[in-house]
Amino acid sequence: MQDADSVARVRALLAELPRPIGFVPTMGALHDGHLELVRRARERCRVVVASIFVNPLQFGPNEDLAKYPRDPVHDRERLAAAGVDALFAPQPETMYPGSFATHVDVDSSNARFEGAIRPGHFRGVLTVIAKLLNIVQPDVLFLGQKDAQQAVLTRKMAGDLNFAVELEVVPTVRERDGLAMSSRNRYLDETQRAAAPSLYAAVSAVRAALESGAAKAEALAAGRATLSPLATLDYLDVVDAASFLPIERLSPPAFVIGAARFGTTRLIDNVWIPQ
Ligand code: AMP
Repeated sequence: MQDADSVARVRALLAELPRPIGFVPTMGALHDGHLELVRRARERCRVVVASIFVNPLQFGPNEDLAKYPRDPVHDRERLAAAGVDALFAPQPETMYPGSFATHVDVDSSNARFEGAIRPGHFRGVLTVIAKLLNIVQPDVLFLGQKDAQQAVLTRKMAGDLNFAVELEVVPTVRERDGLAMSSRNRYLDETQRAAAPSLYAAVSAVRAALESGAAKAEALAAGRATLSPLATLDYLDVVDAASFLPIERLSPPAFVIGAARFGTTRLIDNVWIPQ
């Protein structure tokens, strides 16, 4: 695996490699969910590029940027073993020099759910994804369904701004008890960890109720009843898969989405309702 921490170096590296190039952007602290993205990229592409960059722009002032888990040596080993050809791991100054002043944002009508609870989050996410796409110029971008709103907004950005990239969304990889793998799971203490799978149980209960003909309010009530009393719910809703707008009547494809706090750790999850 080749390493690059500068834009010039990654561009020089990639100029010599065959296409199609698959790209897996991450913030590191890698788990099997990230590696599933790499596996999919390897299946489809001749070259796989990963990035590790804890993007300061997508963290709010009171969020966990400073304590976000970092494990660069272990991450590098895991990516190399998974067959990644090149790793781009820039420093913040490389991505955002002092003169940096341009951002990509979505209309405020899209500022729902994660966008509403984490103001500026998607502005940071879309800005870094746009930069990374311009730096790496991949043919296929691999994102996880776990961050479904991020994937929907990225698809919108790529269409609106004519990025020549295809997006593949990879299904969520879970622990045996259903908890979606996440770098933030390591913040959970034992009791919270035991309660955390109830978020998946809750979104699954909503889906099951909708599929058996329940009205939305009834289905959401079934979901809330499934959530552990240790959890503080931020939202639980049913949204259209393309627009991410809430829907009142089930019209697949759709997502049931949920976010909840377990102590100070905030987790998100979703399930897909196919057409
Ligand atoms: P992160 O490092 O959290 O920014 O995630 C990097 C990429 O991995 C994003 O596209 C995530 O959606 C994806 N990802 C994170 N967790 C999972 C998971 N459990 N299963 C599949 N993809 C995931």
